[in-house]
Amino acid sequence: MDFIADFDLTHENTLGLKSAARLAAHITNVDELEATVDEAAARAMPLTILGGGSNVVLSESVEGIVGLMRIGGRQRTGQSATDNIITAGAGENWHEFVAWTVANGMPGLENLAGIPGTVGAAPVQNIGAYGVQLSDFFLSLTAYDTQNRKTLTFDREACGFGYRKSRFKADPGRYIILSVTLALPRQWQVTNAYAGLEKFQADARPDEVMAQVLALRQSKLPDWRVLGNAGSFFHNPVVNLAHAQTIPNAPRYPQADGSVKLSAGWLIEQCGLKGERLGPVGTFEKHALVLVNHGGATRADVSRFSALVRERVKTRFSVDLVQEPIEI
Ligand SMILES: Cc1cc2nc3c(=O)[nH]c(=O)nc-3n(C[C@H](O)[C@H](O)[C@H](O)COP(=O)(O)OP(=O)(O)OC[C@H]3O[C@@H](n4cnc5c(N)ncnc54)[C@H](O)[C@@H]3O)c2cc1C
Repeated sequence: MDFIADFDLTHENTLGLKSAARLAAHITNVDELEATVDEAAARAMPLTILGGGSNVVLSESVEGIVGLMRIGGRQRTGQSATDNIITAGAGENWHEFVAWTVANGMPGLENLAGIPGTVGAAPVQNIGAYGVQLSDFFLSLTAYDTQNRKTLTFDREACGFGYRKSRFKADPGRYIILSVTLALPRQWQVTNAYAGLEKFQADARPDEVMAQVLALRQSKLPDWRVLGNAGSFFHNPVVNLAHAQTIPNAPRYPQADGSVKLSAGWLIEQCGLKGERLGPVGTFEKHALVLVNHGGATRADVSRFSALVRERVKTRFSVDLVQEPIEI
C-alpha cells in the first residue's frame, strides 16, 4: 500500500485552502483501511479521514496520515413492504448517488441533491437541505472502530442524530464509516414546504423536483470550483423566545421546545458583512452565511475573518455563532 509523503491537499478541500498532509493514502477497501490504521499506530501518528473535503477547514500542515476515502459501490440490497433498501460505499460521491437513486425509480433523496462530498460523510453531520435530512431515510451504517479494531453496525438510534450532528461528529477519529444503508419509501411523496418548491404538488415528478433543487442551489451558492467555499459556515443559532424578541424583524423559526431558531445569514447581513472581506477571505456577495476564499487563503485567514463575524454578531445581537466546518 502506498503512503505518499507531503501530499498536497489544496485541491482536496472545497475552500481551496493551502494545505499538505505529512502522509496520505487512498482507501478503496477495508483491507487498505486496516493497513492505514496499522501504519498510523506504528508511526504513532493521528489518522484523519477526508471525503470530498467540503466540510473542513484544513491547516497548512496536517500532521499524521490523511486517509482519502474512496470505497465505492451502490446497490439496491433489499425491499420491504414499504421501502427500497439501498446501500452505498462511503467513498461514493453523494450527489451522483442521489441522481442514481432518482434515475432508477427510487426517489426520496431529491431534496438533498447537489450537496458536495461523499456518502460516508453524510451521517457525520446528518446533512440536510430543503426540509429534508439524511436521518429521515437512514437505516444503518457500518463503521470501523479504530479503538477496538473491528467493524460495527449502527442503527439510527445508535448514531445520535440531531441538527447537523451525530455521535461521529462528537467523537472524531474513532469510527470510520464504510457504508451507509437507507430506506427509501416505495410510495413517494414530494416534500415541498420549502420556499421555491411549493409549486410541486402530488402529481410532481422526482426528477423535476431534483432539477429545481439544483437550480435553487445554483442561484444561491457559489460554485466551489470557481470560488472556494464550504457551504454554510455557521449553524443557525437557537435562542429562547425572550432573546428572539429582542431582535426585531429577525426571521424566526419556532422549535418544538418553545425555543426559536434564527437565520445566521440574516444576522451577519444585518451587521453589514454581506460581501465584505478581510484579506483573501470574505462572505459571498449573494449569501452572507457562505465564507469564500478569493484566492490563496490559509486556515489563519479563515480564522481571522470568522472571528470578526462572530464578534460583530455577538456585540450586536448577543448571539454566539457556532462554526459548521470541522477544523483539521
Ligand atoms: C457549496 C456547498 C454546499 C453545501 N451544502 C450543504 C447542505 O445543503 N447541507 C449540508 O448538510 N451540508 C452542506 N455542505 C457541507 C458538506 O457538503 C457536507 O457536510 C458533506 O457531507 C461533507 O462531505 P465530505 O465528503 O466533503 O466530508 P469532508 O469535508 O471530507 O469531512 C467532513 C468530516 O467528516 C469526516 N469524515 C469524512 N468521511 C468520513 C468517513 N467515511 N468516516 C468517518 N468520518 C468521515 C471528516 O474527518 C471530517 O471531520 C455544503 C458544502 C459546500 C461546499
